[in-house]
Amino acid sequence: MSQDSTESHPTPRKRAVFLDRDGTIIEDKDYLSQIKDMILYPGATQALRRLMDAGFLLFLVTNQSGIGRGYFTMADVERIHEHLAAELARAGVHFQKIYVAPEHPDHPSPGRKPSPQFLFEARDDFGVDLSQSYMIGDKLIDLECGWNAGVKKSILVRTGYGAELARTQREKLAEALIVDDLPGAAEHLLALDECRISDAERGMLFRALESNGWRWEEHFLYSPNKTMHLLRECAWQGDLLDFYGQMMNRLTKLTTSAKEFSDHEQHRRVISDAQGLVAILTVLLETKK
Ligand SMILES: [Mg+2]
Repeated sequence: MSQDSTESHPTPRKRAVFLDRDGTIIEDKDYLSQIKDMILYPGATQALRRLMDAGFLLFLVTNQSGIGRGYFTMADVERIHEHLAAELARAGVHFQKIYVAPEHPDHPSPGRKPSPQFLFEARDDFGVDLSQSYMIGDKLIDLECGWNAGVKKSILVRTGYGAELARTQREKLAEALIVDDLPGAAEHLLALDECRISDAERGMLFRALESNGWRWEEHFLYSPNKTMHLLRECAWQGDLLDFYGQMMNRLTKLTTSAKEFSDHEQHRRVISDAQGLVAILTVLLETKK
């Protein structure tokens, strides 16, 4: 049962980072079953350590349909996880819990991503505040798992299947933050976390936007070239993480959509606008550190 009331949790609820395994922390080997084939990505251990040091609980959430398909057993997967845990423990990193969905994709499964079931279990069993937590993975199902659970942000890494996804499924990633790899995810998450800005800072941001030719009009933020706009329910007033993530997504999309522009010069100017806005946001984020 959910324990959301403050009465049952007098202490502050904990924040967590939920992590996919294959293609996110270790190389995706297509049905990994042998310890000798497990390869941690460079910088992954240190990235996890940074997140732990910042107070986040870490959880591994992995679909292992190779078990349901009969390619290997749960015992094989557990051996891999013992080995992974031992490797990470040398740097003081540990997962609160490792959640495994062993079922075949065609069979019913309570926990198989994009199901948010394991995140709900972590919420209930460890007192995790999902609205202040993050999901990191290399597939759309990872991001959807986070969204289905109501996490603060789902983050796509370009390792594993992530680069291909970022190239081909851009329209489905509008709400995601997209980064190169796990160290990049930790960097962004920590830099952008807790970045709700004050009214004074919001005023400063809008003045910076105006001086660069950007303006709000009703529900749209227009670039100086008017070709790039951002639709919001109201003039933006959320947190910087959200705004920065949206603008980075917009910028990345623009770099792959040259054909939507009448000429190269127009495309170049619009990208320049977007880069200018991202630069403004980056400076503001720096001041929040
Ligand atoms: Mg993966």
